[in-house]
Amino acid sequence: TNTRAHYHAAIYSTPGMGHIIPNLELAKYLVSHNIVTKITFFLPSINNNNPKPQAETTVLQSSMDQNHLDIIHLPPIDVPTNIDLGLKQAIVMKESIPFVCHEISTMTSPKPTILITELFGTPVLSVAEKFNMSKLGFWFSNAWNLALVLHTPTLDKVVEGEYTDQEDFIQIPGCTPIRPYDLFAPLHDRSDQLYHEYLQMCEEMRKFDVILINTFHELEAKTIAALRSGKLSKVPIYPIGPLIREAKNQNCDDENRNYVIDWLDKQEEESVIYVSLGSGYTMSHEQIKELALGLELSGKKFVWSIRPPSTKAGYGNYLTAGQDTESNGVPKSQASVRAFPDEFYKIQNQGLVVMDWAPQLEILNHSSIGGFLSHCGWNSILESVSCGVPIVGWPLFADQMMCAELMAKEIGIGIRLNVNESTKVVASEEIGKSIWKIMDKEDIEGCAMRKRVKELKQIAEEALSQDGPSFCEMVNAFEKLSLTNVA
Ligand code: UDP
Repeated sequence: TNTRAHYHAAIYSTPGMGHIIPNLELAKYLVSHNIVTKITFFLPSINNNNPKPQAETTVLQSSMDQNHLDIIHLPPIDVPTNIDLGLKQAIVMKESIPFVCHEISTMTSPKPTILITELFGTPVLSVAEKFNMSKLGFWFSNAWNLALVLHTPTLDKVVEGEYTDQEDFIQIPGCTPIRPYDLFAPLHDRSDQLYHEYLQMCEEMRKFDVILINTFHELEAKTIAALRSGKLSKVPIYPIGPLIREAKNQNCDDENRNYVIDWLDKQEEESVIYVSLGSGYTMSHEQIKELALGLELSGKKFVWSIRPPSTKAGYGNYLTAGQDTESNGVPKSQASVRAFPDEFYKIQNQGLVVMDWAPQLEILNHSSIGGFLSHCGWNSILESVSCGVPIVGWPLFADQMMCAELMAKEIGIGIRLNVNESTKVVASEEIGKSIWKIMDKEDIEGCAMRKRVKELKQIAEEALSQDGPSFCEMVNAFEKLSLTNVA
């Protein structure tokens, strides 16, 4: 890689842990493998009058000691509080562009020659053109989702009416068809402003010189072939995953960490289910109630990462996730505990509750963990695969329905729950049965899922090792860039 080691790359990341984490992992991977010599990491922020979430600060700080990685916090942008999260992100990413332009133009040392960004960052491609930089897309959901994104401008022309009113599944050349309800949320309402923002981003995705995907061949061979067939777009794609954090490098305070790990140390092998619905999701009372009843029915011990409930479930806290609550780790004070439904208190002796932010990778890596009840964010799925843990999927929105479908039906490492489409609630009986199934040593299907996820753990490890398939894909992507680089 020495011939390429003169690159200085800039990364433009969307705010929110689900974006910052994979972008930082890419940055660290590129510098530690000597694929680029320097990374400038631009991080926009939303002005919502909240202090920076603790977990975000810690994850950024832990990356600061990494040589050759500069993190630049861009000035906060004011956005209306009452609009959809996706729209907030789209606005912030657009309005922060002048700051990026200013930073790059005032850089004295060699300026970056590569600009790396994601779907929401595509408006920054104009800056890449202005400064004659190569355009590298980083897609940290799965290949199936990328296929949908690259095909969306075509769907926009050929599908009449709402996608969700279609009787048939949505067809994408060479890929598994998609159930309309499972489509990414902005596609659910074509009259909404978000749909138009999203459509434009999808079109821009076709302008990257190359796109890296955080997946690997064994997970999605068919879709990777479809993406390479040229039928969806001409952009060369490279499956370079699974890039995930190291288990030891957790953005979690020690008190929280020790509390969970000490408890897990005392449990039997593969006897505990880890529960988390993502970095920023706030559950409704109804969801917490069913989940608590489901955990009780399963009879399994649990570790549950949760935030106090809201009357309305949703991603309202996404950008402030990991904020220290007064309970910081354990529900200590009655004030914060009282907010939960009764069913939640009833099961306290069956497991452990971690308020707000758990050291997820360390938990998944622990030998006492036998299953993961997850909202199926792609980072969480990759982390579970890398730790060899089967999944019960409770998808909520964004790309999670497709991730859950892929996880259960194609990769075969878990069960997708039937989630009520409007309330996003799952019946407790189904939760209990599904947890039981993926963890039960006697269940034939459960055994097959566990065996498969452990095989994949092994393959994932090999993929990322020096000269492994994903490492080689990464090197090839940068080689391709150097051929297309006009700078
Ligand atoms: N995470 C964590 N502790 C928590 C909740 C989440 O460390 O209590 C991390 C998790 O390991 C993953 C990320 O937050 O890396 C969540 O990303 P994902 O794509 O799964 O879902 P999102 O939060 O973006 O919906």
